[in-house]
Amino acid sequence: MYRTKTCGELRLENAGQEVVLAGWVQRSRKMGGMTFIDLRDRYGITQLVFNEKVDVELCQKANKIGREYVIQIKGTVQERESKNAKMPTGDIEIIVQELNVLNASDVPPFTIEDNTDGGDDLRMKYRYLDLRRSCVRANLELRHRFCLAVRHFLDSKGFLEIETPVLVGSTPEGARDFIVPSRMNPGMFYALPQSPQTLKQLLMVAGMDRYFQIVKCFRDEDLRADRQPEFTQIDCEMSFVEQDDIIRLFEEMAKYLFKEIRGYDLGEAPFLRLPWSEAMRRFGSDKPDMRFGMEFVELMDVLKGTGSFGVFNEAAYIGGICAKGCAHYTRKQLDELTNFVKSSQIGAKGLVYARIQDDGSVKSSVDKFYTPEVLQQLKQTMQAEPGDLILIISGPDAMKARKQLCELRLEMGSRLGLRDKNKFALLWVVDFPMFEWSDEEQRLMAMHHPFTAPKPEDVPLLDTDPAQVKANAYDMVCNGVEVGGGSIRIHDAELQAKIFKVLGFTPERAQEQFGFLMNAFKYGAPPHGGLAYGLDRWVSLFAGLDSIRDCIAFPKNNSGRDVMLDAPSRVDQKQLDELYLSLVDPDKGK
Ligand code: ASP
Repeated sequence: MYRTKTCGELRLENAGQEVVLAGWVQRSRKMGGMTFIDLRDRYGITQLVFNEKVDVELCQKANKIGREYVIQIKGTVQERESKNAKMPTGDIEIIVQELNVLNASDVPPFTIEDNTDGGDDLRMKYRYLDLRRSCVRANLELRHRFCLAVRHFLDSKGFLEIETPVLVGSTPEGARDFIVPSRMNPGMFYALPQSPQTLKQLLMVAGMDRYFQIVKCFRDEDLRADRQPEFTQIDCEMSFVEQDDIIRLFEEMAKYLFKEIRGYDLGEAPFLRLPWSEAMRRFGSDKPDMRFGMEFVELMDVLKGTGSFGVFNEAAYIGGICAKGCAHYTRKQLDELTNFVKSSQIGAKGLVYARIQDDGSVKSSVDKFYTPEVLQQLKQTMQAEPGDLILIISGPDAMKARKQLCELRLEMGSRLGLRDKNKFALLWVVDFPMFEWSDEEQRLMAMHHPFTAPKPEDVPLLDTDPAQVKANAYDMVCNGVEVGGGSIRIHDAELQAKIFKVLGFTPERAQEQFGFLMNAFKYGAPPHGGLAYGLDRWVSLFAGLDSIRDCIAFPKNNSGRDVMLDAPSRVDQKQLDELYLSLVDPDKGK
């Protein structure tokens, strides 16, 4: 038997027992005639003691053991003289009688400590060592418990977990697909699913009534901290439901998960349901961080045409936020904020500020263009008080300017410590527009996806003014992160065909791409709807992580590479030949 106990379970009441432990050497130190080794496994760390006076040979053997060696020991549990209250096993140690080296280890390239000296790249290359660190392991443990709780909850509500295929067909609309060549069908390709959207809808047509799946999804998009090319969704679909049924059920699930996994009570009250247009107006975002206020105030009436500042006079949007108590911001701090909004990611042309002085007067960067009366008007509209700092963004494109102001609001929220990771503000954003205009494609695109049902009262607008059509779609947002989203679906072949038409599909192309779905709708499709939660985002939110990468066992880096496996990589010519593929210029993409 390799072990009778783990390294995390021995306590004072075990004193006197003979045990066998196995694990990794966290560290060892020699003090006088004694050698101490901290032995680690997934469950904890236990201190081992070797005494030269008792067994010189054994002690010498112990002294040769390096970090991360895998060893097995037999010994007796005894009470420690100097206890360590910080460790669960800190009251005891093991007096070792037998030592067996199961495997040696090279010196690890970084320290296996929570506070490691390893940089990101190195840790990713040796991810299996990184995963030995307890803080990383804890994230995977949390993820496991989270998945169990999800399954428990959904099972209790009658959901069936059903697997859908990973090799599916490529569909337009949405992100870019990862495609997989088919050897048996030369010149043809599978695609990896961006989500099992149409398949789960077909499961509803099949009468499964309530489906869920914890499922890998693949999107070939540019990566950010909260995006990976493959990620996991908790994908759900229900039949005979309206938007309100789905919202209520998944709100209950969110509350359950917060309580079970995070020990956090979200209270009895239903979450706020914020219409998309209001979210954009008040926060410039469809995923507002509601842990703090600092709402937008529109300033077009106050500042456009009331002075000689050309930028404002030409703006399609002027909006401000009021940073309480920040009037003391130095030139340097204001320059930092200006550079922040002017950075390439945010792209604002500039930042206008106004300080409210102790005497109530206003001192601003655009003083010379406005009369003191206009500036007082600004103060009143912003409901600013002495000591406050007003920050203003404007632009010729209202949507862009709002998004820039949104970034500034979040930045100020962070600077003022208003975005506490241990506080959670959840809400639903509802009434999304059905379509958004794409400059790149020069046509309307589905804002959610093309299977989303329009609000019934807006259906006539599909013929006259589709841009005004609202969708029966909803997103769940937590702390400025979209943690899930879904919609009521179209279940009528004719309406589905009409949506494809608005999206610019010819009937032939719609039939070719989505015929399988529209045909299925001819055989008694029930009304249905659903939602998908982003598992990685939930777990990182619960664990307080900055990046979803930290809760994924083997994540990809920002260029979509797995640096440990060195993937993606070239393949043999033979493999290409089998697939009837020839590369135009393998270095072209470099
Ligand atoms: N399939 C959708 C998505 O991945 C979610 C849904 O509508 O259920 O965003």
